[in-house]
Amino acid sequence: MLTGIETRPVARAPKAVGAEELPEHGVGLRAALARFRERWEPQFSGSAGPRYFGFVTGGATPASVAGDWLTGVLDQNAMSGEDSAAVELERQTVRWIGRMFGLEEHTGAFVSGATMSNFVGLAIAREWLGEQLGISVAQAGVGALGAVPVLSGTPHSSIVKSLSMLGIGRDSVRLVPTRPGREAVDVDRLAEALAALDGRPAIVVANAGTVNTVDFDDLRAIAVLRQRYPFWLHVDGAFGAFAALTPEHATLVDGLGEADSVCVDLHKWLNVPYDAAVQFTRHRDLQLRVFLNSAAYLTAPSDTPDFGHLVPENSRRLRALTAWFSLTAYGRDGHRDIVQRNIASANSLAEQLTASGLLRLVAPVRLNVACFTLADRPTSERVGALVDAIAETGETFVTPTVYDGQPAVRAAFSNWRTTDADVDRAAKAIIAAALALS
Ligand SMILES: *Cc1c(COP(=O)(O)O)cnc(C)c1O
Repeated sequence: MLTGIETRPVARAPKAVGAEELPEHGVGLRAALARFRERWEPQFSGSAGPRYFGFVTGGATPASVAGDWLTGVLDQNAMSGEDSAAVELERQTVRWIGRMFGLEEHTGAFVSGATMSNFVGLAIAREWLGEQLGISVAQAGVGALGAVPVLSGTPHSSIVKSLSMLGIGRDSVRLVPTRPGREAVDVDRLAEALAALDGRPAIVVANAGTVNTVDFDDLRAIAVLRQRYPFWLHVDGAFGAFAALTPEHATLVDGLGEADSVCVDLHKWLNVPYDAAVQFTRHRDLQLRVFLNSAAYLTAPSDTPDFGHLVPENSRRLRALTAWFSLTAYGRDGHRDIVQRNIASANSLAEQLTASGLLRLVAPVRLNVACFTLADRPTSERVGALVDAIAETGETFVTPTVYDGQPAVRAAFSNWRTTDADVDRAAKAIIAAALALS
């Protein structure tokens, strides 16, 4: 199956497989495998392959797949460390990852993805906000808090979803104007919005890598505003934080370490299988207040609280093992190499598409995404038809977006398998599809 990943069609709309009856009597593992390969597997996406550029998807390195398999085989419950070194492995892996992103002063925990990482960060922010007002939201409930101002330039949808889950509410988001032609927040306008709060504490959600054009807020300038205004700084660096791995791009995430909480996704650019992300914070005391799980049969939290007291889950998968395997097998430099190759691929694709004269970029390539549209009449119908025609080829897969009111297409590079030859092949397919429309 691993070898087939390179050659299977990149993406296709699955045919309905048809419902199966609940098996009353089992057929055995061998027959189950045969049935899966025949019925289901051919209808699965080629998203783990080298020319799938939709969303920001990431692949899975061979070492991480080995780690994933062992996670299931050994089936540890990484909730507490009473009878297993599994949680020690998780703590160490979190420290490694913190080190890669300059978050040595933060503590962290594995969660299932960037959405949950954002959720946990904002839950701690909510507790901090209560503390500023002399209440504990964990005890008194969110009703005691009143309206919470959440300021952000271009928040990811998962931020808004998290605010809904936290009882803060989707309407709490106050969009701050971005810099002209950019997705990065205008820091002067942010300062004005904070000043207008008259000393009321707030949450600021900053971005390290927006999904459309991978734009970065000026994290250092935002952090400095805390000297004047009381706010919690949460940074969503789901995949953009990986800029820290390459000397040429590390300045984009300058100031990341200043944040009160940080979200880093791992099933995207670390290339571990779904699902894994890390949630970092400088305020574990507040985190403990939110997620404390006290029961007579569980040990009370110590200086290093069990993970069950720090995240929404109690029983939890040892998600750290995939990252441990990949980092042990390939090292920081192996992962830097993946990031650098993906950035080079985004630039190469952008150059080839632009050179065709049929397509143009809607934003410069800042990191690993080429965001482009038709040079001629880029209406939503025509751009939609382009995306469909590209998917139809089975050669590559890209996803549509709207950037600055302009229908556009994104090609995001985050898979370790992608080679120069893959980029050339994808460019040919995209240009051919654009030519057919002209
Ligand atoms: C992907 C992404 C998320 C959500 O991540 P999931 O792993 O899908 O939960 C949040 N923020 C940003 C910037 C992302 O790119």
